[in-house]
Amino acid sequence: MPLNTYHKKRNFLKTPEPKGRLKKSLFKKLFVVQKHAASHLHYDFRLELNGVLLSWAIPKGPSLDPSVKRLAIQTEDHPISYGSFEGVIPKGQYGGGTVMLWDAGEWDCEDDDPNQALEKGHLNFTLHAKKLKGKWHLIRFKKKEKTWFLIKGKDRYATSAFDITLEKPKSIFSKKTIDQITENN
Ligand code: MN
Repeated sequence: MPLNTYHKKRNFLKTPEPKGRLKKSLFKKLFVVQKHAASHLHYDFRLELNGVLLSWAIPKGPSLDPSVKRLAIQTEDHPISYGSFEGVIPKGQYGGGTVMLWDAGEWDCEDDDPNQALEKGHLNFTLHAKKLKGKWHLIRFKKKEKTWFLIKGKDRYATSAFDITLEKPKSIFSKKTIDQITENN
């Protein structure tokens, strides 16, 4: 069942995260990145497909430099409603820590069939978000493993001049830093 793993990992009496459910697909596909200060800081990279948000945890966050491969560990599918969540997951709960809406927008698949491309382990796509734009690739390291790499495609949005996670550290929703979200909770 879709979202089974997501629901099993969480106690919705204790976490403010959305319970969510399967959503009928829309014409436009949501893209979101959530900066998550859990036991280890990471960036949760999510693409809407098949009524859920496919998810990867990226320890170092995205890089705009096409020569840089960022490790992306595939995690459980999340409900689409998770894409608007910003807040604090209580200590002791799954993923306990602060979640920031770091980037959001839409994505377009550049492959004929996104499900087939994911099965093959090489997804080509374009992002239309506030911080991340242009061509990107998600490439699986080994077949049947959850280890992928996120790589920027070569286009006018590619640059090695700065680190986007340092250059634009704040929430696109509240304009707050991760510490401010934690404090204001
Ligand atoms: Mn996370």
